[in-house]
Amino acid sequence: MKKVRLGRTNLQVSRVGIGGIPLQRPSEKDAIEVIRHAVDNGINIIDTSIGYSNSEERIGKALVGRRDDVILITRTSRADKKRAAEDIEQSLKNLQTDFIDIYELHNFSTPERYQAAISEGGIMEAVYEAQDKGKIGHIGFTSHCINTMKMAVKSEIFDVILFPFNFVNNEAEEELLPLTKKLDIGFTAMKPFAGGRLSDANLVMKYLLQFDNVVPVPGIEKKEEIDEILEIVNGSLNFTVEEEQRIADIRKELSDPFCQWCGYCTPDCPQDIYMPMVINAESMWKLWPHESNVKQYKDILVAAKSCSDCGECEEKCPYNLPVRDLMEKGIKFIESKLEI
Ligand code: SF4
Ligand code: SF4
Repeated sequence: MKKVRLGRTNLQVSRVGIGGIPLQRPSEKDAIEVIRHAVDNGINIIDTSIGYSNSEERIGKALVGRRDDVILITRTSRADKKRAAEDIEQSLKNLQTDFIDIYELHNFSTPERYQAAISEGGIMEAVYEAQDKGKIGHIGFTSHCINTMKMAVKSEIFDVILFPFNFVNNEAEEELLPLTKKLDIGFTAMKPFAGGRLSDANLVMKYLLQFDNVVPVPGIEKKEEIDEILEIVNGSLNFTVEEEQRIADIRKELSDPFCQWCGYCTPDCPQDIYMPMVINAESMWKLWPHESNVKQYKDILVAAKSCSDCGECEEKCPYNLPVRDLMEKGIKFIESKLEI
């Protein structure tokens, strides 16, 4: 397996990692086999979160006796110190380890959440304490919002970032990517398949692997997906003329603006609704097994239905999306799936 240096962490990581969201979906036995198959084939970076139901536990079980072969990334979305400290301890238990290589702030997409994280009593205090005690190696930051991410990167607090990056959503290319390179910050790419909008693994992986400081962490749930990706990584990464044309065609097909999870619409919602969760209900349903997340889907539904139709969110969306109409579709989708 080709390796790459993950920025100033100096960690040598495999050219691709695996993302832990879909590991919730198969049976536990199958999920464990998938993780071991990845590690047996030289993949040494595994990315998850305490927020992905049983994903950490399954990774922990799969890595019994194999912990030293792998660089583990996990995270929490808790912004306050006390709850973040509890989550760090729980992740260590779930992962059956006493050390997390990279601990990240999960989805801090608004400037307000970023400020809360770095303020007194915020998550960063818990992360630094855990680092001082040797429980955490490096600190990372994840966000769907390019402006918040640039703010975090420029602070130079973080050693690694996780940001959406693929050939239809490539806003990182212009400024963020060169900035991380200049500051020697590791770049891991989330949503390489654009949240399910892209299906051609060959094009998806070749596009990302042309950036030598980017490590894609595609969500994986089957051994065959790992085999397919490994074949691409180990083959020629040059695009043929036909592949370049195909990318151009797909970009044209998917040129309509879609929700990027940037979170700009969320802070001032009088009903405290997290709109991207509602808008993206259908794609989330494919990734998140509903059996173990029924309560979450019900909570999303209750929140979405409390919308007072004020329209504040639409004024804030940089892509001019009809947020309320899209939420309506999301509500209908969840209702149909929960048979409400
Ligand atoms: S329209 Fe609904 S979702 Fe949007 S800000 Fe107003 S209450 Fe919140
Ligand atoms: S609806 Fe618009 S502002 Fe809200 S998360 Fe999606 S893209 Fe961002």
